[in-house]
Amino acid sequence: MEDAKLLIINLTARTYRTEIIPEKIVRHYIGGRGLGAYLLYKNLPAGTDPLSSENVLIFTAGPAQNLSVPFSPKAVLTTKSPLTGIYLYSVSSGAIGHNIRKAGYMAIMIIGKAEEPLYLHIADEKVTFHKANHLWGKDTLTTQKLLLDETKDKRASTAVIGPGGEKLILYASIITEGDKFRAFARGGPGCVMGSKNLKGLVISGTKTYQPADPEALSMFKRKIAAAIRENSVWAELRRRYGTGDDMPFMNKVGMLPTRNWQTGVWEEDKLKGIAPMLNAGIWPRKNIACGPYCPNPCSHYLEIKSGPYAGVAVDGPEYETMYAFGSNLGIDKFDAVAAAASLCDLNGIDTISTGLTISFLTECYEKGLIDRNYTEGIELAFGNDEAVIQCLKKIIAREGIGHHWGEGTRRLSATINGSSSFAMHCKGLEMGGYECRAFYGQALQFAINPKGGDHHGMGLPARSEAADGSNKVIKGKGEYLKEDAIGRVIADSAIVCVFPRKFLFPLFHEMLTALTGFLYSPEEVTKAGMRIIAQERLFNVREGLGRKDDTLPPRLLKEPLPDGPYKGSIVPLEELKDEAYRAFGWDLETGEPTPQLLSELEVN
Ligand code: SF4
Repeated sequence: MEDAKLLIINLTARTYRTEIIPEKIVRHYIGGRGLGAYLLYKNLPAGTDPLSSENVLIFTAGPAQNLSVPFSPKAVLTTKSPLTGIYLYSVSSGAIGHNIRKAGYMAIMIIGKAEEPLYLHIADEKVTFHKANHLWGKDTLTTQKLLLDETKDKRASTAVIGPGGEKLILYASIITEGDKFRAFARGGPGCVMGSKNLKGLVISGTKTYQPADPEALSMFKRKIAAAIRENSVWAELRRRYGTGDDMPFMNKVGMLPTRNWQTGVWEEDKLKGIAPMLNAGIWPRKNIACGPYCPNPCSHYLEIKSGPYAGVAVDGPEYETMYAFGSNLGIDKFDAVAAAASLCDLNGIDTISTGLTISFLTECYEKGLIDRNYTEGIELAFGNDEAVIQCLKKIIAREGIGHHWGEGTRRLSATINGSSSFAMHCKGLEMGGYECRAFYGQALQFAINPKGGDHHGMGLPARSEAADGSNKVIKGKGEYLKEDAIGRVIADSAIVCVFPRKFLFPLFHEMLTALTGFLYSPEEVTKAGMRIIAQERLFNVREGLGRKDDTLPPRLLKEPLPDGPYKGSIVPLEELKDEAYRAFGWDLETGEPTPQLLSELEVN
C-alpha cells in the first residue's frame, strides 16, 4: 500500500502541510472512522469547546476508495459535536471519499478559524483559499454549483454548509454530491464548519492506485456479484423501494416510532400514505446510486409535480426521514415528508434531529406544557404538516423562538418543565427510528453508541433480533451486539456501505488484505474493530463520561409500550449494560475500557 498522507489545513494562518501517517497506525485503524477516531483523540485536548477555533474537522477516506470496490461511495467526517459535546463521526455517501484519495490523501484535517467566510480548493498537492462572502446565505445546491463553476473543476467533489451551518444550528449538516444531497448529517458537523467561517471545499485529484493483490480483489468482486444474485429478493426490494422497503414489517413488529415514540405501531391506513411498498402511487421513483461503484443502487430521485408541495425535488426520502417527518410526527402525506426533507437538505440541517425536535415540541403542546404564545402562533398537532413546515422555517431562520429550537431536544427539555421523560435523545443526539422497548439489543446499541442516539453506529441488531426472535433475551446480548458492532466499525473504516452486511461483512479479511497487503486474518479484523471501539470510548471517558451516561430516555425505561405485539415492554437497561461491558472489556462499575484491554489492543 502507498504511504497514507494526512493533509493539515490551517484556516487561521491560511497555510497547509502534509504528514505521512505511520504504517502501524494505518494497519491498526484502517482508515475512515478508525483513523478519524485516532486523529481526533491525538489532536484535540480534553474539554475543547466544539465551537472554538481549536476544534478540528477531519475528513477521511479508507482503503476501499478510488479502487472501484463495490459499495464504496463513502467518506467519514470526525469532530467534536456541538450538539452533544462528545465524540462525533459521520458517514456520507458520494464521490468525495474517492476524490480525497485521488488528491493523494487518506485524511484531511482542518484546524483554526478563518477571519472571513472562505472556501477551499484542494487539487492534488495544491490548496487555495478563496473568499466566500458572496456565497454566505446561499443554499447547499446553489453553493455547490457555484463552487464548481468558479473553480472550473468539473471532476471535483464539493462539501458545503447552508444557512443552517452559518447560523450555527447545533444539528447543522454538511452536504455533498450536488442534487443527490448526501450528508455528513448527524451531531452538527455543519455547525462546526460554520463556526470556522468555512462555507465549503472543492476537492479533486489525478492519482490512481493499484490494490496490493489485484487477483484477490477481482475474486472478492466476483463473490460480491454472486452474493447479489443469491440475495436477489433483498437486492430487488432495495433497488425498488430503498431503505423504506420493510416499513410494513417494522410496523407489524412494533418497531416504528410513532408520535414522538408514544408507541411503535402506526395506524395501517396512515402507514399506507408514506410506505413505499404499500402505495404504488408514490413509488417507485427513479432509482439512482448514491455515488460511484454501487452495484445495487438503493437511492431514488423524486420530483413532486402537483399539489401544495409541487416543485420539490429531493433524494429519497430514506427510511429515517420517513420516520422523523412521517410516523413520528403522525404525517401520512408523502409529499409533505419529501418537502420537509428538501428544506433540511437545501439549508443543511439533519432531518432526524429536526424532525424529533418538532415532534418533541408537538407532544409538549398537546400535553399543555407550551402554548401558542410560546410557539409564536403555530398550532402544533400530530398530523399537521403545515405546522411542521412553519416550525422548520422558524428553525432555519433562527429567529424568535426558532433560535432556541435550533439547539435540539436536550437543551429544549431543560427549559420546559415536565418534558424530560419524552425528550427522545441519547447523550444529546436525537434517536434514529427504531422503537426498542422490546428489542433489547437495539436498546443497548443506543445506550452505548459513542455519538449518542444514532441508530446503527454499533450495529443494527433490531432487524436480526426481529428475524431470529431473540429480541427480549438478555443473557449473551453483549456478545450478540459486539459481533454486529465490529462489522459496522470495520465497514465505516474500510469504508464501504453497510446495507449488504449479510454477505459483505464476512469477507472483510479478504477485502482488506487484497487492498492493503497487510495480512488481516478474521481475528485481526475483530481486533481492529475492538481497538477502534475502545479508542472512541476513550475519547468520551476523557470528556468525563462513564456508566451513568449510557442511558436512554425515561420513556423507554419506565413507560410500558401501550400496544402492539410487545405491549407492556420496557428496557431492563442496567442488566443489558453489564452484558455489553463484559463483552467489550469495559469496567462494570465505571464503564471505562480496562487497562488490560487497552494494553492488548495497543491503544494509548
Ligand atoms: S446500497 Fe445504497 S447507500 Fe449503499 S452504496 Fe449503494 S446506493 Fe449507496
